[in-house]
Amino acid sequence: MNSIRVSQSVFGQEEIEATKTILEKGFVGMGPETKTFEDDLRYFIGSEVEVVCVSTGTAALQLAVQACGIGFGDEVLIPTFTYVASFQAVSATGATPVACDIDLETGCIDIKDLEKRITLKTKAIMPVHYASQICNVEALQEIARKYNLRIIEDAAHAFGCKYNNQLCGSFGDITCFSFDGIKNITSGEGGAVVTRDHQVANTIRDLRLLGVQGDTAMRIKMKRSWDFEVAEQGWRYHMSDLMAAIGRVQLKKISYFSARRVSLACQYQNHLADVKCVEIFPIKYGAIVPHIFPIRVREGKRDSLKEYLNDNGVQTGLHYKPNHFLSKFKTEYLLPNAEKMYAETLTLPLHPAMDEEQVSLIIDLIRTFNNLNERDNL
Ligand SMILES: *Cc1c(COP(=O)(O)O)cnc(C)c1O
Repeated sequence: MNSIRVSQSVFGQEEIEATKTILEKGFVGMGPETKTFEDDLRYFIGSEVEVVCVSTGTAALQLAVQACGIGFGDEVLIPTFTYVASFQAVSATGATPVACDIDLETGCIDIKDLEKRITLKTKAIMPVHYASQICNVEALQEIARKYNLRIIEDAAHAFGCKYNNQLCGSFGDITCFSFDGIKNITSGEGGAVVTRDHQVANTIRDLRLLGVQGDTAMRIKMKRSWDFEVAEQGWRYHMSDLMAAIGRVQLKKISYFSARRVSLACQYQNHLADVKCVEIFPIKYGAIVPHIFPIRVREGKRDSLKEYLNDNGVQTGLHYKPNHFLSKFKTEYLLPNAEKMYAETLTLPLHPAMDEEQVSLIIDLIRTFNNLNERDNL
């Protein structure tokens, strides 16, 4: 049986042509194509911001934390309910990721729990826009002002999403995107830091090239800095022109990808609303481009629904195992909402290569599963 994948990359002839052009140049490192992708992204998000492309979304987060001068002895508040990338990005800088609980309605960081965990060592908050929901912007900004904290958004799910009619990346302090294979747009692998803070942007331009000062300007002209200065720990986290070429094509397809994702997510939402064993996140699509479609499954039925769908050729995912369940990031305290959410959530397939018929098939399977369970409970 052919299985429906939970997520996948969608490429066409255009991406193949774009990479071919770069390969034929015989130069695949970081150069003019990366600069042009950064310009394209800046134009898309709004011209006030600076965009620095890097090798992955995780690298974007790590460099953003480091560029704020945050490191050993400092603490960064993060929702435990996120991909381990967010936690590893913080701990890679030497700073301590402090796990916070989430709001059960959205899966985003819980403001009250977060405020409780602020100490003298707290330097930043890393909110995660879970399932593409832009979380608590005003409340987070208020807390950041009150305690003098940076906000480094993990916007890996939220490329192309709007809040109050403004695109994600245009209103934040520092926003980090991922362009890995399954995100709203992909450059194969890649990420970007978007900020209005020129100093942060310039620092990251150096940090992504092993800390070599001013090397970005040289590379864009296809030159190298042979006699150079390095004053800080840097990394080889730049984006390659090969990746940038893919990203540029994908960015041109964002309206199409968004429309497909929104349409499929709305279909799930409309047709699963009355199914007893599941609960749908109350997300208003339109301004939101859904990267994943998680649902909540009631009464301990999550694993059996997962197995039932799998047996019928439908892959699902679990977003996410809480980070405080991992030995590296375990906490002395419980985070009950995140733990409950983890036990109940299941991510259904969602990507632009899917069609309405496949979503209908998945909806029918969930309805059948629900009816079988109701009968058993009589
Ligand atoms: C994908 C993702 C990342 C990491 O991005 P990469 O490009 O894979 O390094 C970080 N946080 C979240 C929430 C993600 O989904």
